[in-house]
Amino acid sequence: MAGPQRWTRPELMELLDIRGGLSRQELYDRADAVRRERMGDAVPLRGIVEFSNICANDCLYCGIRATNANIPRYRLDDAVILDLARGMEGQGQTTIVLQSGEAPSRDGDAALGRLVSRLKAETRLAVTLSVGNRPREVYAHWRDCGMDRYLLRFETSDPALFARLHPDCTLSQRLRCLGDLLDLGVQTGGGFMTGLPGETLSTGADNILLCRDLDLDMIGLGPYIPHPDTPMGQSQNVHVLDPERHFVALAATRLVNPDAHIPATTAFDALFPGTGRNLALTRGANVFMPSATPVARRPEYQLYPGKPCLDETGEACARCVLGRLAALGRQVDQGPGHSRKPGRAVSGEGAVGRGN
Ligand code: SAM
Repeated sequence: MAGPQRWTRPELMELLDIRGGLSRQELYDRADAVRRERMGDAVPLRGIVEFSNICANDCLYCGIRATNANIPRYRLDDAVILDLARGMEGQGQTTIVLQSGEAPSRDGDAALGRLVSRLKAETRLAVTLSVGNRPREVYAHWRDCGMDRYLLRFETSDPALFARLHPDCTLSQRLRCLGDLLDLGVQTGGGFMTGLPGETLSTGADNILLCRDLDLDMIGLGPYIPHPDTPMGQSQNVHVLDPERHFVALAATRLVNPDAHIPATTAFDALFPGTGRNLALTRGANVFMPSATPVARRPEYQLYPGKPCLDETGEACARCVLGRLAALGRQVDQGPGHSRKPGRAVSGEGAVGRGN
């Protein structure tokens, strides 16, 4: 078999533009074949708990930005999170993803470390955190507490666009965080939004190449969706007239990053209600993230409007995903869902090397 194709930027731009060789369906079929060959048909389930919407940042697109006064702020108690984690184990989920706004504090970061330790001691779940930029020593501490993975999207590879969207952070700071995580041996996820206002075809290509160049273990991508309570509420997604382009970006990401875990993200369902995540699973994605956030808190964690499953309990979400997978002829992955890339150290019980 020929070695993996080393995609260039012009080739990728042509792929994203769907002008040259491949039709959309051919691209989707190719991405699905690569996904099947490299990641298999079994789908790792990673239950996500959006445990706090408290955020110090004011990202211009995000519904939980600090200055959005239209939502009450919450932080779940550890006891609630531990209960949710135990429930996940009974539902075939092997990872808990703890996500929140970005609210760094010495006490809060120490408390999160204690929670990670308890999750590792009291369940068999792999633990992923997604709480934003932190100094290297905080990531190292969480790793030492048992954190297996970390998700931190770089959002866009264009430094000027990044600067316009993020008053509190630069792209180089975000990339420094990703570099620290990778260097610390944490399985690391990055990624981007598709169709951000100001994005061009070359930004789209560079987003995908940046994922490859960082050698990410996981890549999260999904459509940018305008939120009315943000400064960008009136700015449309650049793919508004051709929303299939979000799937084109997903499929191209799989071709260029054959061994990365790529979730079918919720934003695809927001744009394509009821079908988006299923389609994503047949166009390059291999992971599903059912929501385990308590129903009462879900409306308060609306990063964008149209987020699905607002009134579904974690159990209902878990049942729904089994139905989705059955309809696609896919199974639930029984393993911990760790990185497929060789040589990455992993911590915690049940851990396997990246090559397994
Ligand atoms: N605070 C952490 C961070 O910044 O990494 C985790 C939470 S953050 C709200 C999770 C992700 O939501 C972001 O990385 C961003 O890509 C996505 N997001 C926020 N607002 C969005 C919007 N309007 N449309 C689509 N995705 C959005």
